[in-house]
Amino acid sequence: MNYQPPLDDIHFILHDVLKVPEQLQALDAFVDTDADLMRQVVGEAGKFVAQVVAPLQEIGDTVGCQWADGQVTTPPGFKAAYQAFWQAGWPALACSPEDGGQGLPAVLEAVLYDMLSAANHGWTMAPGLLHGAYECLKHHGNASLKSTYLEKIATGEWLATMCLTEPHAGSDLGLVRTKATPQADGSYRLSGSKIFISGGEHDLSDNIVHLVLARLPDAPPGPKGLSLFLAPKVLPDGAVNAVHCDRIEDKMGLHGSPTCAMRFDEATAWLIGEPSRGLNAMFVMMNAARLHVGLQGIGLLEAAWQKADAYAKERRQMRAPKQPMSTTPDPIAEHPAVRRILSTQRAWIDGGRVLAYRTAVELDLAKDHPDESRRQAAQQWCSFVTPVLKAAWTSQAFKGSSDCLQVFGGHGYVREWGIEQIVRDSRVTMIYEGTNEIQAIDLLVRKVLPDGGVGLFEFLQTLSLELDLENPESVQLLTQMNDLKAFTSLLASNAKTQIELPYWVADDFLRAIALLLLDWAWLQIKQAATEIPTHDLSGRWTEPARALRHWISPEFNLCMSIMKTHF
Ligand SMILES: Cc1cc2nc3c(=O)[nH]c(=O)nc-3n(C[C@H](O)[C@H](O)[C@H](O)COP(=O)(O)OP(=O)(O)OC[C@H]3O[C@@H](n4cnc5c(N)ncnc54)[C@H](O)[C@@H]3O)c2cc1C
Repeated sequence: MNYQPPLDDIHFILHDVLKVPEQLQALDAFVDTDADLMRQVVGEAGKFVAQVVAPLQEIGDTVGCQWADGQVTTPPGFKAAYQAFWQAGWPALACSPEDGGQGLPAVLEAVLYDMLSAANHGWTMAPGLLHGAYECLKHHGNASLKSTYLEKIATGEWLATMCLTEPHAGSDLGLVRTKATPQADGSYRLSGSKIFISGGEHDLSDNIVHLVLARLPDAPPGPKGLSLFLAPKVLPDGAVNAVHCDRIEDKMGLHGSPTCAMRFDEATAWLIGEPSRGLNAMFVMMNAARLHVGLQGIGLLEAAWQKADAYAKERRQMRAPKQPMSTTPDPIAEHPAVRRILSTQRAWIDGGRVLAYRTAVELDLAKDHPDESRRQAAQQWCSFVTPVLKAAWTSQAFKGSSDCLQVFGGHGYVREWGIEQIVRDSRVTMIYEGTNEIQAIDLLVRKVLPDGGVGLFEFLQTLSLELDLENPESVQLLTQMNDLKAFTSLLASNAKTQIELPYWVADDFLRAIALLLLDWAWLQIKQAATEIPTHDLSGRWTEPARALRHWISPEFNLCMSIMKTHF
């Protein structure tokens, strides 16, 4: 069974829970983006994903990418699908019209990547970095680079890479050694090796634009000495640049995406932005990429849930404990142990979708809202929620898809049903774009503690303003927010003398915030479902909402207890 885009759920979240068109009305660029237009775009995207991309999921895994003599061939069908994708304008959805884009809100791109990742994670890796590369070049590139590359990247005619990692420099990019030597004509020559570069070489597009972190000759050591460069596979005069793919990795999953070892051998490149401000420029791309990885987590979990849910409705084993008892075996979907697995994943998927789509809305508000204080609040939302989405929802994608595999029993462990592919593919989302441990440190050590928790408290306050305080579940959530605030103040003061303390608790801290956010998102869902009769709580949303109540508070309290043991 191929993935089916859950269009009703997506429309409900966009329109009834988040009321996206109303939220975006304050922005000049989106005054004409009404609910009908959004429904139409999402519907067409769903068709493309289901008809063109989803059918390539299995072949992407079984045939995979092949390397020979420095060239990479992607699995059969991948190139034609990619050509159809960019020619239909999908990569350009949220790019500016002046750059060849469609000028639609970022949230529609988020919906597109949620569906694409679910349908075919390997294929989706290729266009997944395009929007980040577009934003990076748009904000930091000079006029000459923009005139040659911006439209090609916006439209997706040329694909882009993010070349950060080196064999000895992974989480610690300050160790990057790739060298950039200035040339008389204003260009640079890049020399060095990068590893694990997604889409470093392939046959999907005529050119590949590499964005490369490297070091100028007089640069200081560490992260502050890094500059960002653009090195295309094919130079503007048509010559092939000295960028070589020496091998692709033989890896656990994601076989449809070539993970390349790249060698820059005096390759021609141009500086993007200021010298030694490369990480600053790259962060534009990395932040966009982190939201995308959070969306991958949500999409992959949806794909795993769809398979497990369909299987559970068909597979009959033993009689379920109900009144009256059946006389023959019931579908396993009726056994509480299986329902518990399935509804737990739904709770994570639906709540994650609310948070991820809302983050995409906040990205647009942070850029263009006329009111400065609203822009700041939006920036604060993105800054706190992005690492949480990236880490918590990718961990759940792996754990939850493994739980979905469990629903198949032994049939899940064999390849036939495709569920084991999702477990393998999803594992890497916990590692790339900054490992989940690095996300937790980013959240706690870089964002929460420096101001003693004040920014976090403001953010929690904005969340609480959207709660219905007549509802006892909202009051319980507020109590937990207060517990977290008190704990954060204590942590900030103890961290001054216990230098290791924040690093020991960072993962549980992120988890605790993820649980608060998930609870908050479900309160929004339930409120909307009660208001809209077609979505009332006796239907689609009841069981995940009930499942969530069993574990969300106990798990939050467990995180708090574990953290306190470190004092
Ligand atoms: C399939 C795939 C695709 C990839 N695509 C790209 C790409 O397109 N471009 C690119 O540049 N890179 C890419 N990467 C590389 C990826 O971003 C790195 O693997 C990742 O950043 C981790 O670096 P590392 O593997 O060197 O692990 P290390 O940094 O060596 O980390 C090893 C372990 O130590 C932990 N650790 C390290 N430092 C700390 C710390 N300070 N505090 C706490 N824990 C720490 C990590 O969390 C991890 O658990 C890809 C990797 C894979 C597997």
